Amino acid sequence: MEFLPFTRPAIDEDTIAAVGDVLRSGWITTGPRCQQLEAELSAFCGGRPVRLAASATAALEMALQIAGIGPGDEVITCPLSWIATANVIMKVGATPVFVDADPATRNIDLAKIEAAITPRTRAIIPVDLAGLPVDRDRLYDIARRHKLRVVEDAAQAMGASWNGQAIGRGGDLVSFSFHANKNMTSGEGGCLVLNNAEEARLFEKLRLQGVTRLPDGTMDVDVLGGKANMTDIAAAIGLGQLKQLDGFNTRRRELARLYFQHFDRSLGCELPPEDFANSNWHMFQPLLPLERMSVSRGEFIARMKAENIGVGVHYPAMHLFALFRDKGYAEGQYPAAEDIGARTVTLPLFPAMRDEDVLRVCQTFSAALRAVLH
Ligand SMILES: *Cc1c(COP(=O)(O)O)cnc(C)c1O
Repeated sequence: MEFLPFTRPAIDEDTIAAVGDVLRSGWITTGPRCQQLEAELSAFCGGRPVRLAASATAALEMALQIAGIGPGDEVITCPLSWIATANVIMKVGATPVFVDADPATRNIDLAKIEAAITPRTRAIIPVDLAGLPVDRDRLYDIARRHKLRVVEDAAQAMGASWNGQAIGRGGDLVSFSFHANKNMTSGEGGCLVLNNAEEARLFEKLRLQGVTRLPDGTMDVDVLGGKANMTDIAAAIGLGQLKQLDGFNTRRRELARLYFQHFDRSLGCELPPEDFANSNWHMFQPLLPLERMSVSRGEFIARMKAENIGVGVHYPAMHLFALFRDKGYAEGQYPAAEDIGARTVTLPLFPAMRDEDVLRVCQTFSAALRAVLH
């Protein structure tokens, strides 16, 4: 049996040829392909300005800067995410304030946000984990009532929607990731959807050393910027992927449906919300019945790997990392995030998977789990 990874990018020959064209063109860094990808992403987002960055992490950090967030400010987010979500808050000198996950959605518990708001709170970073969107109606209702900015960490939500509207078409600042594992990739990369030309202009400066090119051919620098521009090589990959995004996500939904059909529900696992209206099915993640298992999650994953099936963990609750423990965080503070983070496993789900692959994963999973249940 061939090894089945938990994810694998789908790069077609047209995209590979387009990358070759860029490499042969004599212009490989930020240029016409980046401009084209920004225009196509803007169309995808209903005409809103979109700017590319070298990663979603960089885009999120610049989004916080554009929102004017810095030292002394608090930003609310969920501890159940990729660590980038909290890192960017600390990078701009602000303080992350965690709100536990909702056990039903595994996203930030909207009912617990208001209790975490203080006079220093400036923004909320919602995370659409596994591509299942946070309820945008409730989220923006809270943000409006408390005059908070929203920086959507929609890294996993490209092509997902809320109430029939694609994520990115509405809302405040919205960031997507094009990391290799996401629903569309540029190798590495990301983007930010902004509200107006002024924000877009500031983003352009922040991502390239603060430089403004003047009409007379000289330049000026009026803000401290970094180096986070995308290359045309990456943009060529992104352009090839964006064309296929709908097809990719349709296939992901089909595969997710197959998982629900074939998953052995008598094993005591909790399945993800069965959402076929909004989610882009970035990941399919059952929660293991750890208390009934005689081996650890790590050992279970090793046994699946021995059967040639890749299983990932996305993610452990981040407040239990040493970085946060050193600040006084400990077990018990965010019980839902801790429970999900301890039990979650990511099963293979990517567009090139065959129907039979899902059956094989379900059968192998079931046998591996039955062998260790007591
Ligand atoms: C992937 C991811 C990021 C970071 O994206 P990069 O492009 O790798 O910087 C941030 N947040 C979440 C939830 C992610 O899944």
